[in-house]
Amino acid sequence: MADIIKLLPDHVANQIAAGEVVQRPASVVKELMENAIDAGASTIKLIIKDGGKTLIQVIDDGVGMSATDARLSFERHATSKIQKAEDLFNLHTKGFRGEALASIAAIAHVEMQTRTEADEVATHIKIEGGKVVSQEVTVAPKGTSMMVKNLFFNIPARRNFLKSNHVELRHIIDEFQRVALSHATIGFHLYNNGSELFNLPVSNIRQRIVNVFGGKTNEKLVPVTEETQVVQINGFISKPQFAKKSRGEQFFFVNNRFIKSPYLHHAILGAFEGLIKKENHPGYFLYLNVDPGSIDINIHPTKTEIKFDDEHTVYAILRSTVKHSLGQFNVMPSLDFEQDQNLETPYGYKDKSVEPPKVIVDAGFNPFKEDVGAVKKSSFQKQNNKDWESLYVGMESNIGKNSDFSSVSFESDTITGSIFENKKESVDTGSTTFQLRRKYIVTTIKSGMVVIDQSRAHQRVLYEKFLRNITVKEAVSQQLLFPLSLTFSKTDCAIIEEIQDSLTTVGFVFGGIGDEEVTVTGLPLSVPESEVGIILDQLISDYQQDYVVEGFSQTDILSKTLAKSLAVKTGELLDSDSQLALVNDLFACKESEVSPFNKPIYVTITEDDIDKKFI
Ligand code: ADP
Ligand code: MG
Repeated sequence: MADIIKLLPDHVANQIAAGEVVQRPASVVKELMENAIDAGASTIKLIIKDGGKTLIQVIDDGVGMSATDARLSFERHATSKIQKAEDLFNLHTKGFRGEALASIAAIAHVEMQTRTEADEVATHIKIEGGKVVSQEVTVAPKGTSMMVKNLFFNIPARRNFLKSNHVELRHIIDEFQRVALSHATIGFHLYNNGSELFNLPVSNIRQRIVNVFGGKTNEKLVPVTEETQVVQINGFISKPQFAKKSRGEQFFFVNNRFIKSPYLHHAILGAFEGLIKKENHPGYFLYLNVDPGSIDINIHPTKTEIKFDDEHTVYAILRSTVKHSLGQFNVMPSLDFEQDQNLETPYGYKDKSVEPPKVIVDAGFNPFKEDVGAVKKSSFQKQNNKDWESLYVGMESNIGKNSDFSSVSFESDTITGSIFENKKESVDTGSTTFQLRRKYIVTTIKSGMVVIDQSRAHQRVLYEKFLRNITVKEAVSQQLLFPLSLTFSKTDCAIIEEIQDSLTTVGFVFGGIGDEEVTVTGLPLSVPESEVGIILDQLISDYQQDYVVEGFSQTDILSKTLAKSLAVKTGELLDSDSQLALVNDLFACKESEVSPFNKPIYVTITEDDIDKKFI
């Protein structure tokens, strides 16, 4: 048989390798910014067009390159950062593989201008798909400018795989923020389609965090410091009361490199335990410094994971340091969980004795006297004085007309068929529903009984209501007496601006959306003023997460988020009117079986099932 093995031509090998280094525009941003940092830049400018698909440019004032180096820098395994394998264990630079520029040049149109301090003229190189198109002498300031245009121009499949410009920009901003947060002593600028998104002057870490995430961040920060032989820890944690529902602001940097570490994250959660609600996430910006020889950053190709020699010790030190800071800055007493009825599992619950479940019944209610319509009008009230009636504005009229609803018969209609037929209490109390462990509503149907998850049921009811409002554009809003002024980061404000139209369709009215401030003048009827901030925060984070996945429409995300935020929670006591109203509303829904998040809402237990238990 003839020989069949051939060496791949360089440009093919480079394209293949590029796939590992460059997944999307944000990967290019990361590599170019890291090169600029390694070059000792004091100011770095990032210029983006169309989510990085058309242009990514990084301009630095670092050491620059000689003409020969400029040409060589695009070769694979060309690096000035390591010379021998041992150097890998004593890394002080971001890059070391010498493959970023070769990879990027293989899949884009690249133009570089660079000049060193010593040289009088600069080098201008153009490379397309790995081939040098031109190399000229030019005039340019000291430092390097790298322009990457038309990413993946020669790999259409990869180009098509890119998400919308907004999504790609979001990824770029994430990378930019990570780099900017780990180098406060370097000034950074980010321009997107001609407008300035970030202008971060040289500062200290605290100021940098505030400049990245907006003015309000400052008051949230609690400093953390610790110095041990194994690790030196600096940085900030967010006060527990500012914990967010989204996992947004969580940053670990090890030797000034952003890393992801579920293990160390767990240490922080441990320190915050009992101080924040289960569903909330603590914010942190923690800078760990260790001996470069004691970590291996090479285990992940995109270098966001590292391995410590002594992981357990780092874990323990981190946990106790954060705990100490929380205690020292006296942030604990300011928390008052008693006021929050929405807590799924109240703090300290496990240490309390278990209360017997309370069943509230309306003794005056007689199903035979009132018609079903009258029952439905009873509004659904929460115990904590919130105005839940407003949730049901415009809803009553649908009940009864809907065929789904009429297909379900309740005990009150068909009491003779009930297994409780002869039981005195079911007639005496008049209650056709009861609440089990403040979590489920139990009611009877012809064939047996239904157990309904109260929170999911309410989510479904609200979700359909919001969807309807959005589609028919009939949302009613409550005008606020005093406009609410809320502070967000620049990127969050940009997102609110993006989804502003949908928000308006559900009843939000905006006075203005500024750089870091949003003024709200009207709210959907069901949204309490005190919760606007939380709800908008949640919306921003859901929107970010879901639009990365995509496939969800804005209206869908919006309706889901509002439904989730406003629905009654597990643990909330509902009186019998509310229970009944919820059951009725649920079965009036178009799809009453699953929650907006595709979780089952109720289970039915037939008389047969019950009979079998008694055999
Ligand atoms: P690595 O960063 O792993 O060394 P790269 O392909 O990113 O590999 O860069 C190759 C080389 O080009 C670097 O080692 C460095 O010497 C040089 N270089 C790249 N970008 C810059 C820059 N902005 N300023 C100065 N030199 C640079
Ligand atoms: Mg590099």
